[in-house]
Amino acid sequence: MAVPQRRVSKTRRNKRRTHDKLTVPAVVVCPECGEYKLSHRVCKHCGTYNGQKVL
Ligand SMILES: [Zn+2]
Repeated sequence: MAVPQRRVSKTRRNKRRTHDKLTVPAVVVCPECGEYKLSHRVCKHCGTYNGQKVL
């Protein structure tokens, strides 16, 4: 930030980049086949979602 150092308070400076952290992908174990899959996504291993065959 092209602003004199003293113009930015410690709080304001430290507040930068607190809101755009990479979120950890929600990985769960598929109840059908036991493979790792992304939560709320169709399992690409066995093609089921919520107990239903989708693919
Ligand atoms: Zn599966």
